[in-house]
Amino acid sequence: MNILVINCGSSSLKYQLINSDTEAVLAKGLCERIGIEGSQITYQPAGGDKEVTVSPMPTHTQAIQLVLDALTNEKNGVIKSLKEVGAVGHRVVHGGEKFTSSTLLTEDAIKAIEECNDLAPLHNPANLIGIRACQELMPGVPMVAVFDTAFHQTMPEEAYLYGLPYEYYENYKVRRYGFHGTSHSFVSKKAAEVAGKPYEDLKIIVCHLGNGASLSAVKNGKSVDTSMGLTPLEGLIMGTRSGDMDPAIMEYIAKKENLDIAGVMNVLNKKSGVLGLSGVSSDFRDLEEAAAAGNDRAEKALKAYNYRVVKYIGAYVAAMDGVDVIAFTAGLGENGKSTRKAICDHLSYLGIKIDDEANSIRGKDVVISTPDSKVQVMVIPTNEELAIARETLALV
Ligand code: AMP
Repeated sequence: MNILVINCGSSSLKYQLINSDTEAVLAKGLCERIGIEGSQITYQPAGGDKEVTVSPMPTHTQAIQLVLDALTNEKNGVIKSLKEVGAVGHRVVHGGEKFTSSTLLTEDAIKAIEECNDLAPLHNPANLIGIRACQELMPGVPMVAVFDTAFHQTMPEEAYLYGLPYEYYENYKVRRYGFHGTSHSFVSKKAAEVAGKPYEDLKIIVCHLGNGASLSAVKNGKSVDTSMGLTPLEGLIMGTRSGDMDPAIMEYIAKKENLDIAGVMNVLNKKSGVLGLSGVSSDFRDLEEAAAAGNDRAEKALKAYNYRVVKYIGAYVAAMDGVDVIAFTAGLGENGKSTRKAICDHLSYLGIKIDDEANSIRGKDVVISTPDSKVQVMVIPTNEELAIARETLALV
């Protein structure tokens, strides 16, 4: 069966058509600037060239129509008609406490997702628009929602409660949820496969280090803690997000900089992290280059970033009473060998030893620790689209 995977944002939409029998990507691409002047669609069939077409997309429905047209195009389409799309898998950011796993999209499920909108006001409404648009253009095709939060719903109460009035949890569902769940689930399962041991017997720490970044502690096949919280702002220092900080800083900075809440939130989400610290970039390639050229703030940013990861790993070793596997994934986790090395050098107290040659291999699942290392360290490329396609297939 061919499964169309849709990741719909407020002004962009990523898509992949995956054959679920072979797990091959038949075509993939991106619609950008939906609802804005200058919108364009990128389409790339497997083994073919990337094609960029500028085309008006006033709404997401038009964007998805263009995706379907590209997929069925006589010239370089990969299917003859939409009848060859067996199901659609949608990435949905927030499933609150309502969704502990992926779900078939019935009217009731859509209503329940809408009820989570307050928890992710920038993301969930956009995800829902994508769902509605697909329903309009592909009536009768089964659709599934795969949530970023669902994998972490196994966290115990002591891990997800904040030290706030309990009524906020009862009345407003203020608690830690965690994100990147599809990636943490996919990578931790893959890590167990690579280790050659049952998933249910392992203590795994997944370091998803991308532009957004989070760690998870996966014990006996279940997420027992993760670094993001009610929103993706908590936890690690990220590309542009602050991660953990003293909440009183918000009032202090608001007064100093004459900002309202929205202004402070904008700083914490978009102008902080390694970008804010370095003043150079949120991209680690730029930071490494700047640090190598002697830029002191870029170096400070990299050190602060690594230190936060090391602290969280220490916390999760404590939370799980040990660790068997540490797996790095996402843009920086998969490609940043000096970041991995710097983090692992801090972890020698765990008996971790890195094989520098293996640490230089790219693009595949690889164990980067030495055979005598007390903890296996791995690089596992994440594949959220494939994970969504698998979940979708399982439900339809
Ligand atoms: P993601 O959000 O998973 O796409 O990750 C994006 C981030 O990965 C970028 O912001 C880069 O900082 C980082 N990244 C990608 N490639 C490399 C590389 N070769 N070396 C270091 N960092 C990289």
